[in-house]
Formats: sequence, C-alpha cells, structure tokens
Amino acid sequence: MLTEYHIEIMFESLGDSISPRALGIMTHANIHQDRFAGQFGHDEFHFDNNAFAKTYAYIEEQCRLVVESLHKKDALSAWEAFGRMTHTVQDFYAHSNYVALWLNRYDGKTPPPPGEIDPVHPDLIHSPDLRSGKTYPPLEYLYFVERLRPYVLPLIPRDSHAWMNLDTPAQGFKFDYAMQAAIKRTRIEYERTMKGLPKELLSLFVGS
Ligand SMILES: [Zn+2]
Repeated sequence: MLTEYHIEIMFESLGDSISPRALGIMTHANIHQDRFAGQFGHDEFHFDNNAFAKTYAYIEEQCRLVVESLHKKDALSAWEAFGRMTHTVQDFYAHSNYVALWLNRYDGKTPPPPGEIDPVHPDLIHSPDLRSGKTYPPLEYLYFVERLRPYVLPLIPRDSHAWMNLDTPAQGFKFDYAMQAAIKRTRIEYERTMKGLPKELLSLFVGS
C-alpha cells in the first residue's frame, strides 16, 4: 500500500487507543519499511513473492521484540517493532489474493460491503489457493513509473505484484476491502498484543 494509506490505517485503527506520541512512532516505523532499501530483498516486510513462512517468522520476531522491549522498559523499541509488524500485516491484504478469495465466496451474489470483511477467516488464511504477488525485476520496477505503466503492464505475468496489488484506489473496488481488512487486522494485532502483556506494562505500551 502507498504510504498515505498505511498512515490512514494506523490512525483509523489505533487513534482512539494509543497516545499520539506512541502512535506517531509506530506509524513512522510502519512507513519506514517502504524506504528504498526496504523494497529490495525484503519480501517479509511486504508479504511479497509467496514468502509466507519467512514473513510469518518476521511477524513473530517483531511481536517478540515488542514484549522483550517492554520488559526492559524500552517503550520506543516496542513501538517501533509493533509499527514494523503492522506494515507487514497491512500489506497482506494489498499484496495477496486474500480479498479476491473472500469475495469469491459470494460467487454470483452481491458481496457484503467492505466493512464486513473478515480479515482472519481461517479457511482463507490457510487456503492452498492463497498467493501473494511475485516481483519480476526489472520490468516490475518500470511499473512504478506511472508514465510507463501502460506499456510495461502487458509484459508482466498475471501472478505479479504489478497485476495483483491493491495498493491504491486506482486498482478498483477491491481496494476498499483491502483497506477495511487492514484496519480490522491492525486492531486485532493490537488487542492480541495487549492481551499478552502483564498489567504493569500495558500503560507503557499505549504511552499513557
Ligand atoms: Zn510495503
């Protein structure tokens, strides 16, 4: 997803629950994953290239860092790790066919509105049909130059990030489903994190 949408997701999902300082640091760490150096060789940051095992390991590592840092009273490192983790789970809905699989279940019928998407449907999360977009350098890089996109896109395979992504509203109606799923998932991850924390560390995490 583009930076502006990651920011929107963070504020929409956590704005009511976390101090502005904590949320600012989490959001900064989230969008920093899309820095130039974070775009290459880091499938696990963005759920790219079907690197699911590597990506789930990365998510777990960040979750562990959150808890470890809080135990050391290092809230800053905890917020950064949580921010990095949220980037990855948010990209899941923009870079995989999860939304398409969810919509397919309403084949022939009008699907429920985007706000009703279940972001963690177990059958879909573990579906053998779940895929994430592959990157095909160097053509894939040219795709990001908007002027060249119409010429480059037909040359890139259909299972690519270029064809599959729901990074912006320009990708069509599925983008709204990806946004809502990412907002709900971020909230789920927040609640899961809070649940696992001892009482004395809860206020440290929310920055109050
Ligand atoms: Zn990303």
